[in-house]
Amino acid sequence: MAINQIRSIEGVLCYGNAFTDTLTDNPRIETPMKCEKEPIRIHVLHTGSVYIDRALAFRERSLHPMPYTGWLRSNAKKLWVPVSAYLIDHPDGLVLVDTGWHTDMRKSQRSHLGFLPATMLTGRLPAGEAIHEQLTAMDVEVGDLTDVVLTHLDSDHVSGVEHVKDASNIIVSQPEWEARGDVRYSPSMWDGVDINPFALTDIPFGPYNEGLDLFGDGRVYLVFTPGHSAGQLSVLVHNGIGWILLSSDVGYAERAWADGVLPGVTDNDDEARASLRWVAEFSQRDDCLAVLANHDTDVVPGEV
Ligand SMILES: [Zn+2]
Repeated sequence: MAINQIRSIEGVLCYGNAFTDTLTDNPRIETPMKCEKEPIRIHVLHTGSVYIDRALAFRERSLHPMPYTGWLRSNAKKLWVPVSAYLIDHPDGLVLVDTGWHTDMRKSQRSHLGFLPATMLTGRLPAGEAIHEQLTAMDVEVGDLTDVVLTHLDSDHVSGVEHVKDASNIIVSQPEWEARGDVRYSPSMWDGVDINPFALTDIPFGPYNEGLDLFGDGRVYLVFTPGHSAGQLSVLVHNGIGWILLSSDVGYAERAWADGVLPGVTDNDDEARASLRWVAEFSQRDDCLAVLANHDTDVVPGEV
């Protein structure tokens, strides 16, 4: 869903009857919010883009044994998609979700990504679009970030982490950290960066009801949605009106969860299906304002 398609509600932000009515009419809200709380804003940032085979985004049945690699596949089967990051402006802190491309991608993609991944994808990072460049343009210093959440360790999410290594707390789920030696990852990207894995706790959301209530106030949840990777997180934010789900790479666009189309690369298909099903169900809730996939071409940068 594009940002400009997000359901609009009268009486914008958390003041007014629309919000109160949503609460009282909908018994499925597990964590009631107080209306007087400050709203939370989400800034969608595009930290460049990536050229991939369409089968990496949407799994295909094919005679080709690994269509998602793009090897020996025509350009007609490939597409450019954005590489998103998000800045969540919570009253108690500034949270960055994912880090996009490192500026090294402007120089030598093969040495930054590694030989094999560089044959599968091409990144593009125009001037001014690296994460630290965008934060500077927004008058945000890296030291202002209270948390950097890595939804998972694929290169397009973690490549730029060095640019924000001075943030207070860079976190990833424990299961994802335990899988950091997987061949698909490039540990050199977080070399010298202090990353803190966190243990999953019980939360009222997600396919396994596991994750983390980041501020302890029921407004920003890191939701354990594994399958694409071992410990992938989605991020669920209540902005004062309703929920916005940042679904990372659980599915690559709305049609993924609407039609049950897995990503081309998964760590565990059963878990990936469970996570996709949960996103599909959550997207149907009356209080779900939007689901934003990381690489959806219909999602444009801006404030949600
Ligand atoms: Zn991705």
